[in-house]
Amino acid sequence: MARPKILVVGSSNTDMIIKLDRIPQPGETILGGEFATAAGGKGANQAVAAARAGGDVTLIARVGRDMFGEKAVAGFVQDAIHVQHVTRDPAAPSGVALIFVAKDGENSIAVAGGANGRLSPADVKKAKGSIAGAKAVVMQLETPLKTVQTAAKLAARAEVPVILNPAPAQKLPGELLKLVSILTPNETEAELLTGIAVTNEKSAARAADALLAQGVETVIITLGARGAYVAAASTRELVPGFRVKPVDTTAAGDVFNGALAVALGEGRPLLEAVRFANAAAAISVTRLGAQPSAPVRKEIETLLASPGAFPPALSPVDRRAGTEPDVQTISSGGPELSLQTTDGGKPKKPLGAIIR
Ligand code: ADP
Repeated sequence: MARPKILVVGSSNTDMIIKLDRIPQPGETILGGEFATAAGGKGANQAVAAARAGGDVTLIARVGRDMFGEKAVAGFVQDAIHVQHVTRDPAAPSGVALIFVAKDGENSIAVAGGANGRLSPADVKKAKGSIAGAKAVVMQLETPLKTVQTAAKLAARAEVPVILNPAPAQKLPGELLKLVSILTPNETEAELLTGIAVTNEKSAARAADALLAQGVETVIITLGARGAYVAAASTRELVPGFRVKPVDTTAAGDVFNGALAVALGEGRPLLEAVRFANAAAAISVTRLGAQPSAPVRKEIETLLASPGAFPPALSPVDRRAGTEPDVQTISSGGPELSLQTTDGGKPKKPLGAIIR
């Protein structure tokens, strides 16, 4: 199968990670940490995740003219990402993130965006041809909103689906939401966008409905270890996550988005694509770092085909007695994944029917 063309617009950072027993409180010093650097930034993470998952990826980004930027670009090239639209900014340093990772996998992150803040609508317009030729455009919110909006408009005009991961959380103009084919907030982001606290499947459904009402075609709320709640015109499903031992959850959402874009770009039905993304993201949380943690295609396929992948990882949230059949179940293994849902086995809609 030809690798689907995926266009990612977004940030590139160098992550400086300290792994320690727990995350320090304000004013507190904790000794005994272990230090590492890793390539990160949501845009770059999603690009790398998509490339490793099987995408033919082009990245639109800005880095500084410094050693961090050089290293980042070298990393993209190593992952066979097209870098002709990665600009070396003459005036701003490369983006940097300082990350604490606690023993239990929780993290705390501070970002100095640098050149990412100067990714402009003009940068995106220069890549108009690449946008129009893509199977999907993937974006997040670590670069200026007006740049994201410009890319969304160009994509919509070319009828290319836009996957927007609204992270870090911020309010979004309705005008942008109407251009989004798939919105992928986590629980916190979903709450910020809707005012509905997402704590279980029921509240995820309410938040998703509120977002659909704002003009988004498909909403996928990622729920950490529990998987992802999917809502579209004819679909309401919790796609369960995979049971893994978390080491570092940094970039789980990024890996999810990158892998999702590839699976959809390959023409997989929505729920199958979400399961593929859950598998990729689950593997990523078993490893330290952002880009280093993104799995390659074979690893994702191995997890999807492994008998240990069934039954679903954790009990879906808020599952009340008697409602179990409403929850998606997954048929036994084999490379050809099939999802059995309780919608009477209706054929799944192809990508084009779900997203523009
Ligand atoms: P974010 O990283 O943006 O906060 P989530 O925490 O919701 O997003 O995680 C994104 C996806 O990563 C989830 O939908 C799930 O597929 C996967 N994931 C996250 N944490 C775990 C975990 N502990 N075990 C298995 N999968 C996980």
